[in-house]
Amino acid sequence: MTSRILIQNGTLITFGSPCRVLEGQALLIEDGRIARIAPREAIPGPFDQVLDARGQLVMPGLVNAHMHFYSTLVRGLGKAAPSCGFQEVLEHLWWRLDRQLTLADVEMSAEIILLDAVRKGTTTLVDHHASPFAITGSLDRIAQAVKRVGVRACLCYEVSDRDGAAIATEGLEENAAFARGCAKDPDPHLRALFGLHAAFTLSDRTLERAAGLGRDLGTGFHVHVAEAASDVAANRAEHGLTPVARLHGHGLLGRASIAAHCTHVTPADMDLLAEAGTFVAHNPQSNLNNAVGIADVQTLVQRGVRVGLGTDAMTVNMLEELRVGLWAQHLRQDNPTCAFMELANTLVARNPELASQLWGFPLGTLEEGAAADVILVDYHAPTPLDGNTVLGHLIFGISQAAVDTTICAGRVLMAGKKLQIGVDEAALAARSRELAVRLWDRF
Ligand SMILES: [Zn+2]
Repeated sequence: MTSRILIQNGTLITFGSPCRVLEGQALLIEDGRIARIAPREAIPGPFDQVLDARGQLVMPGLVNAHMHFYSTLVRGLGKAAPSCGFQEVLEHLWWRLDRQLTLADVEMSAEIILLDAVRKGTTTLVDHHASPFAITGSLDRIAQAVKRVGVRACLCYEVSDRDGAAIATEGLEENAAFARGCAKDPDPHLRALFGLHAAFTLSDRTLERAAGLGRDLGTGFHVHVAEAASDVAANRAEHGLTPVARLHGHGLLGRASIAAHCTHVTPADMDLLAEAGTFVAHNPQSNLNNAVGIADVQTLVQRGVRVGLGTDAMTVNMLEELRVGLWAQHLRQDNPTCAFMELANTLVARNPELASQLWGFPLGTLEEGAAADVILVDYHAPTPLDGNTVLGHLIFGISQAAVDTTICAGRVLMAGKKLQIGVDEAALAARSRELAVRLWDRF
């Protein structure tokens, strides 16, 4: 039976380009899609559910373009040695952690952080997974958590040569197996990319094998690119190329691919990214935390690169990430009034574009025919809210407001700030703490 949900009395913020503000419009959800946006009286009943959004904004579920679910169980871990530089951050923390992850840890990490994503109104996440001693089946375990929670995720395994040839091969095979499964048995909650760690931990041989598999499978790639200056230095020293030029040479960049970070790229790199149509995922909080520099989003966008927004596991709150991104860009450019549109568009326009591309139907905007991924946010606008002011409201006001209701694929996942998923959060967190204690003992 068709489920019909009507959302009425709210103020709609459409996202997309332009991002519009619609008053006096109700929104009808039918069969997991937004079926109508029209005045309430123009939408005939009956309805299975009517949501009254008085005093609330109706917005699309938010999209996170670069995420690592697997880092959830690191919260509070104080055992990593202090690090001088990004390479040591990887060696002292992340590469020690991911080597200890079990499949149970992987699935728990995903489920915990996805419940948090529902609370923050983020319904589509593009994840990049690593667990080098628990690779085979890891993406299926994450997929099970994604389906239980009810959000959408695009998954991949980050192939690397850092743990030897056998583990690199297992990573290649895990990407291929998951992508084949997605193609054979399509699920509206799941998509696949082909994951690669970063050019500095990948040999030309492995890059070639990945490129061949990706071509056969028809998937794009998801790879860290020039996150730190050390990535650039290593690739120049060993291959005489920047990471962008090297990956491009292997056919790994293009419209279907995501290059995360691009903090240290040359003007020529930017032109390659723009010409190829590669999607760059900017992760400002992570870049600040790791002290690797800040991507020059203003110049990237001006040179025609598609730049969206990820969180690199720092948060699942996309509006928080956007805010910090604007402050970071001001500091990067030494200019307190620059790059407002360039930053706002990462989340409002480019991320929905990426999600729509990955899923193959409109996603991340409020429009008739788009996926019914919708959130209701408590917000009484204290100043005029319209198409001219909405981006300022998003960054300075709505980012601090509470998400009340989260709907994904037409299913209500949270209502009145209470999860409707049927999971016992306290029990899940207790089990998670048990796994975390064991993981930290092994660390
Ligand atoms: Zn990352």
